[in-house]
Amino acid sequence: MGATQSLITEYGRTPVVMSVRSMHAVLREEATRGDALPPDTFSEPAIAARLKAALERSSRPSLRTVFNLTGTILHTNMGRALMPEAAVAAVINAMTRPCNLEYDLDSGARGDRDALVETLLCELTGAEAATVVNNNAAAVFLALNTLGLRREVVVSRGELVEIGGAFRVPDIMARAGCRLKEVGTTNRTHLKDFAEAISAKTALLLKVHTSNYAIQGFTAAVAEPALAELAHEHDLPVMVDLGSGTLVDLEQFGLPKEPTPQESLRHGVDIVTFSGDKLLGGPQAGIIVGRKDLIARIKKKPLKRALRVDKMTYAALESVLRLYRDPERLTQALPTLRLLTRPQAEIERTANALLPAVQRMLADKASVALKPCHSQIGSGSLPVDTLPSLCIVITPTVKGKGEGTALKKIEQAFRNLPVPVIGRIAEGAFLLDMRCLEEDRVGEFVGQLEQFRL
Ligand SMILES: *Cc1c(COP(=O)(O)O)cnc(C)c1O
Repeated sequence: MGATQSLITEYGRTPVVMSVRSMHAVLREEATRGDALPPDTFSEPAIAARLKAALERSSRPSLRTVFNLTGTILHTNMGRALMPEAAVAAVINAMTRPCNLEYDLDSGARGDRDALVETLLCELTGAEAATVVNNNAAAVFLALNTLGLRREVVVSRGELVEIGGAFRVPDIMARAGCRLKEVGTTNRTHLKDFAEAISAKTALLLKVHTSNYAIQGFTAAVAEPALAELAHEHDLPVMVDLGSGTLVDLEQFGLPKEPTPQESLRHGVDIVTFSGDKLLGGPQAGIIVGRKDLIARIKKKPLKRALRVDKMTYAALESVLRLYRDPERLTQALPTLRLLTRPQAEIERTANALLPAVQRMLADKASVALKPCHSQIGSGSLPVDTLPSLCIVITPTVKGKGEGTALKKIEQAFRNLPVPVIGRIAEGAFLLDMRCLEEDRVGEFVGQLEQFRL
């Protein structure tokens, strides 16, 4: 059978044999069940087509490209930050050729992998030293375990955050072997609350950036400089978990303000932790910067070895950090910032380029229109501030009974496309936020719509 031969050439003998076997079982069952099947079900072309479809399905990778039109730019479920071209090239090199991951080219002796990014991190943040682990949750865990083991860590009750995905400050603290000493109240914590909590058992004062919510109204929190001064009077270190931690002043790009590690360090904070793949726009990583003696203690822990990152991460991270040396070009060079600062006119152009094709495709099944909306930064950054954007609003034509089902079917049909399109359902409509659909992807988006099956 010629069709099978070409499948063997494409997919290999073993996968084809396995598919044929499992299809045999299905066909036998269909034949004996005696249901009304289309007359050509057991014809050779029909079987060959089913075999081909089965092989295509099983050879498709699990990790697939999608269109993230949810309106959340740093979407944790969709891989957060997108890497710039330069980082991609650096990763390919690191993956395909030997590299000096732990080899000092000057002395010809064993090197320290953190040295690959430490100089850049210190230059950009003003820190004395830096180290990198698998993600920011690991960074917080490792720092707490090193600096606060079996002793008390003082935190404001207003900052006992849950980030989602099981990162909760009290739990991390317990797992890291520290005793949580909570002070103040949910909405107000004062310097004297910290001062009264300090004792011989205290190891560390901790401040957590309340990244995914905002406490508003009658509130008070202790500013970093005051907290640092108090800690240092008692010979204690202060640590700040910044969460997102961008390295530039976002206000210069018209974005809401977000604290930076350099500000915290200038305020006298001893250790700052932040993510690599949130606003920084790099690979998944947890970055710890700060005082040299404390970083040295952190790096000596066996736990650091367990949480270390691989050469691909260092390659991508170094490359992204280098972009920060040239802030003027950052909004073009760094995809995360490019999407965050994308001009409204460009979003509008993309939306208009797409609208007729989507309208044609859904013709009598749904009304399709453009509507202003707001994108979110995501990953717990800047919780209350959203960015004006434009979305395609798809409202099913059916009203009343069946409307909800129709809406779900539309959402699912977009998800079933070869490059799944992920939007969101809100107020009885399916929304596709155009902010994250860059112009060079419009062709791909429109091109696959002929495979849309409702
Ligand atoms: C996101 C976040 C974390 C966890 O960082 P990951 O890199 O996702 O592990 C920890 N603390 C804060 C405040 C965060 O916002």
